[in-house]
Amino acid sequence: MSEITKTDVVIIGAGPVGLFAVFELGLYDLKCHLIDILDRPGGQCAELYPEKPIYDIPAWPEISGQGLTDKLMEQIKPFAPQFHFNRMVTRLERQPDGQFHVETDEGEVFETKVVVIAAGGGSFQPKRPPVPGIEAFEGKSVFYSVRRMEEFRDEDVLIVGGGDSALDWALNLQPIARSLTVVHRRAEFRAAPDSVKKMFELVERGSVRFELGQVSGLTGAGGQLSSATIKAAEGETEIPVTRLLPFFGLTMKLGPIADWGLNLHENLIPVNVETFETSQPGIFAIGDINWYPGKLKLILSGFHEAALMTQAAKRIVSPGERVVFQYTTSSTSLQKKLGVA
Ligand code: FAD
Repeated sequence: MSEITKTDVVIIGAGPVGLFAVFELGLYDLKCHLIDILDRPGGQCAELYPEKPIYDIPAWPEISGQGLTDKLMEQIKPFAPQFHFNRMVTRLERQPDGQFHVETDEGEVFETKVVVIAAGGGSFQPKRPPVPGIEAFEGKSVFYSVRRMEEFRDEDVLIVGGGDSALDWALNLQPIARSLTVVHRRAEFRAAPDSVKKMFELVERGSVRFELGQVSGLTGAGGQLSSATIKAAEGETEIPVTRLLPFFGLTMKLGPIADWGLNLHENLIPVNVETFETSQPGIFAIGDINWYPGKLKLILSGFHEAALMTQAAKRIVSPGERVVFQYTTSSTSLQKKLGVA
């Protein structure tokens, strides 16, 4: 077991609601670690509609999904939250002393007094491309995200897809890979024009190979890839491949949350609306993942839930201490925490 990180609160999910929870908890001196399977904050806002305008965030007549995420990150900066991206929370277990152990698929363990599940519609999980036998290579030579670039050094890398992730990683890995091929089934890309331009410059220089087509087969043994077959209009070609990165988009699945012994209502977590605590004391659920009569899956509902959850979380972390309600406009103590007084 790896070293245990101790904290007041672990927030599962760094979507808009998990981010705002850091602010509310921070006002009460509660330190947070946030864990998200994505490689950046913002949840659905950043992943599904970064450039679309949202019109119902109070006091923001119009703000994009990414714009809201950026503002939330700015707002929580004074509380120095610790982010752990590219990790899925797989286990949640109460310890004999009442604290929780939260474990990730990277083997990290967090010991915490309070768990806040802000997991939205569940974890974003990569879509598996329809290539026969791909499962046998997953986690060994087929990866759906880049966690450590070193794993790609001096390898024959094949990237499949035409979005930002595909092109960003093509540009980032090309300098360290032995060879790099990009396969996309269309000539048009859904990525930033600058990245597309840069990739085709590398193709012209012979540093990147581009194939218009689809991966139709994989060869290798013991989980290690040796080649891939590319099916194009002109026929099939086999190229040496030791690392495959398919970027076929993400789907949302409830994932491991279903195994944590919580009561569920149609894959959502019922909560007490006074505290947003779940059926398990010390575990809270806020944002899209929770359910109560009249629940609306709106960002502003999640913000309200974060404020109420904080009052109850503070009582658990600091038992016996009076929880004083204060306004940020008039409390010098809150302003000091925010670094503005
Ligand atoms: P999410 O944003 O879903 O974030 C949850 C995060 O938890 C994700 O990043 C996920 O990867 C992570 N996660 C889940 N399980 C795990 C795990 N086991 N381990 C690690 N990480 C995990 N709302 C509005 O109020 N106004 C709008 O105009 C609006 N427009 C929308 C438009 C679209 C196209 C969509 C899809 C949604 C829209 N919404 C809108 C809804 C809004 O985006 C959601 O209400 C909001 O994102 C919920 O925030 P959240 O933080 O609860 O969850």
